[in-house]
Amino acid sequence: MRRKLAAGNWKMNGTRQATAQARDIANHPAPDIDVLLCPPATLLAAFADLPINTGGQDCHMMTSGAHTGDLSADMLADAGAAYTLTGHSERRTDHAETDTIVNAKSVAAHNAGLIAVICIGETLAQREANETLAVIDSQLAGSVPDTATAANTVIAYEPVWAIGTGKVPTLDQIGEVHSHIRAHLAKRFDDADGFRILYGGSVKASNANDIFAIDNVDGALVGGASLTAADFTPIMDALGAS
Ligand code: PEP
Repeated sequence: MRRKLAAGNWKMNGTRQATAQARDIANHPAPDIDVLLCPPATLLAAFADLPINTGGQDCHMMTSGAHTGDLSADMLADAGAAYTLTGHSERRTDHAETDTIVNAKSVAAHNAGLIAVICIGETLAQREANETLAVIDSQLAGSVPDTATAANTVIAYEPVWAIGTGKVPTLDQIGEVHSHIRAHLAKRFDDADGFRILYGGSVKASNANDIFAIDNVDGALVGGASLTAADFTPIMDALGAS
């Protein structure tokens, strides 16, 4: 049985004032699911006492050193994080992160005892060229390290064209990719059935029930709709009820 996960990615949003929203999210009853917030790293310590999981949005592949502005996975863990995202499409685009880099960052997360939420997904041009499954295969092969297990790794399928756009793939398209990811993992990992696979890209209360009913969707990675308790708690409720 895979425990479902409602994960929020706050991106570059939130100052200490936002702790009130995080507290409301954390205090919302959700006994049957795991809840994760990935705020800006500046807020991790402020959220450390909340009764939910917290995570970084990225980590460096090294444990320490001359890397101005970067954070190691150990530092995230030290600030209370249990998870970190790796390979979010905004990191891949804005910081030219390749699968090789994402792989090394995910190993660093594992070495620090963090659960890596490894993000993959096709662009609109790749989907329109019918390359989606090939892109997914190549990102999984390149980004998911051999250190991955069902306990220390979550895969987030996030079509780039669905992130922050209000556009969502059809339920069949999501189901096709998620079952493909499961089958891909099964070729590499004995515990492939235990890996949680999240869908991400414009998830909101109005589409959450339908998305969570799809086979092999074990939760969601949510951006915009995770910033307030009013938007995120109905998504948590939908996941708990699915
Ligand atoms: C994300 O940032 O991972 C994301 C899915 O964003 P949004 O929910 O806003 O599309």
